[in-house]
Amino acid sequence: MTGLSDSFQRPINYLRISVTDRCNLRCIYCLPAEGIGLMPRQALLTYEEIYTVAKAAAELGINKIRITGGEPLVRSGLPKLIQMLAQIDAIDDISLTTNGTLLSGYAAELKSAGLRRVNVSLDTLKQDKFEFITRRTTSLGDVLDGIEVARSAGLNPVKLNMVVMSGINDDELLDLATKTITDEWHVRFIELMPSAGVSTRASQFVPVSDMRKRLELLGELEPCLPSVGNGPAKYFRLPHARGTIGFITPISEHFCFHCNRLRLTADGKLRPCLLTDYEIDLKLPLRRGISSAGLKQLIKEAVTNKPLRHHLAEGYTPKNRPFSQVGG
Ligand code: SAM
Repeated sequence: MTGLSDSFQRPINYLRISVTDRCNLRCIYCLPAEGIGLMPRQALLTYEEIYTVAKAAAELGINKIRITGGEPLVRSGLPKLIQMLAQIDAIDDISLTTNGTLLSGYAAELKSAGLRRVNVSLDTLKQDKFEFITRRTTSLGDVLDGIEVARSAGLNPVKLNMVVMSGINDDELLDLATKTITDEWHVRFIELMPSAGVSTRASQFVPVSDMRKRLELLGELEPCLPSVGNGPAKYFRLPHARGTIGFITPISEHFCFHCNRLRLTADGKLRPCLLTDYEIDLKLPLRRGISSAGLKQLIKEAVTNKPLRHHLAEGYTPKNRPFSQVGG
């Protein structure tokens, strides 16, 4: 087999890069209300360092990159990084995960820098609930504008991610799903994962099987292929819908056996799994002038040590970093 593959023969071709641990929101499922210290700025990889890692990874077989965070658009000059990454020959897909609050101002520039598509977190269509979930008074309208501007800029498909929480936003499942008919939205419903220090609880978990039952009120869900990408979501269409509904089941039906990902944290640690604590430091070697061959060796080591699966269902949650640092 050519390219990168781990000890379980899974091909690894996808690198998710967290460019910052900072975020302008503080979502209840992602971050504690307070008490998470921010990384010092000099601890963050520079864009040149990120480029060096991405290039080495691409030479080993990575061809897809997603930029995430924290909130990636709060880091200044992000289009410059996209432009640098787009110049790497083997990289044929660069995407971004964002909360959408700043997207309308950046979408066109990101597109011309080489970004292909965006995923936007959208957990509610109601302003008061948006403020409750994000713990900020930011306007939900900014996110909705961001979505429309991104669609017009051609960052398609814009996928909208909703983390479904019982008693908080699960009453909006049908409203979001209806948008796949009325507005051709591509909506993905995500099971709530436990995360260290956050205020959401296991009792707020809604399994996808439950979500699907509730959505049957809108008609039969017809399986369909994703319009792009081959990630963990399973896709469906409602009758007469041009948009799609995706389900992501990290808990009720984990998809580790098909996992093709590596993650680079904002402070330069390479993690082969979001949900286990194992990571390899690349920042110090980079700052000490490691050769490209040496860097590739470290990347291969992380891939070799990629765990078979996570153990959330057995109660194991990663201890050392919230999602804002690893990039959910
Ligand atoms: N700031 C960006 C955003 O809001 O999309 C990117 C970072 S955020 C950590 C990326 C994604 O992580 C969110 O869309 C959310 O779906 C997911 N996420 C974070 N915490 C989660 C949790 N406890 N359970 C499920 N998904 C979570």
